[in-house]
Amino acid sequence: MRIIILGSGTSHGVPMIGCDCAVCRSDNPKNRRFRPSIAVQHNGRTILVDTTPELRLQALTCGLDRVDAVLFTHTHADHIFGLDDLRRFNDLSGQEIPVYGDEGTLEDIRRIYRYIFMETQAGGGKPRIQLNLVPEDFELFGVSIRSFYVMHGRLPVLAYRFHNAAYVTDVNAIPEAAMEKLQNLDLLILDAVRFAPHATHFGLYQALEVVEKLKPRQTLFTHLSHQFDHDVVNAELPPGTALAYDGQTIDL
Ligand SMILES: [Zn+2]
Ligand SMILES: [Zn+2]
Ligand SMILES: [Zn+2]
Repeated sequence: MRIIILGSGTSHGVPMIGCDCAVCRSDNPKNRRFRPSIAVQHNGRTILVDTTPELRLQALTCGLDRVDAVLFTHTHADHIFGLDDLRRFNDLSGQEIPVYGDEGTLEDIRRIYRYIFMETQAGGGKPRIQLNLVPEDFELFGVSIRSFYVMHGRLPVLAYRFHNAAYVTDVNAIPEAAMEKLQNLDLLILDAVRFAPHATHFGLYQALEVVEKLKPRQTLFTHLSHQFDHDVVNAELPPGTALAYDGQTIDL
């Protein structure tokens, strides 16, 4: 199984509009962060987690030429506003794309992307997707998947485990039931938006406390803001932990 970090940035992306801080002006490509998403690849198939506003650019940058299913974590704009770009993957595969989320997510998608579900004049094209309520335990293309809730402020959002890898973004508290599902991981991809705690995201020090409890073999932090200079912060992080960067691939 291969995981590709399609985007490691927070909702504003990095560089941030109108910011002239050292990280936003940096020419280190690892300090350029698209909105947060990963692709999980196995047996020639690709499962996408979230469709960010930069989905097209992410696909072009990472050479992504197929999407066989999409899992949504929640419906904040930085996680869903590239859904229309799925059209191109429909065209490439000639298939409808199954999309998974919880009830609230599916309801939001029907409302926000109303045109997809209405009969409209031909032309331009619309994404062809099937909405599915995400099961707690299921399998796609030989990948075993578990979905479970973590807390994003007051909002429960879905985290996903793929075999021994987990993607836990947009989170500032992990309930005990979810902690149990995050045991014995080879890879944990975890939200850390800035150094200090945030109302709806882990700060880096809180995220490190979670890592201390779970002891995954490897941890990558994501949903990163412009507070983090990739090389400076990575030099300080404990062994087995690092900031993720766009285009990073991890083979498990
Ligand atoms: Zn987000
Ligand atoms: Zn900045
Ligand atoms: Zn969010």
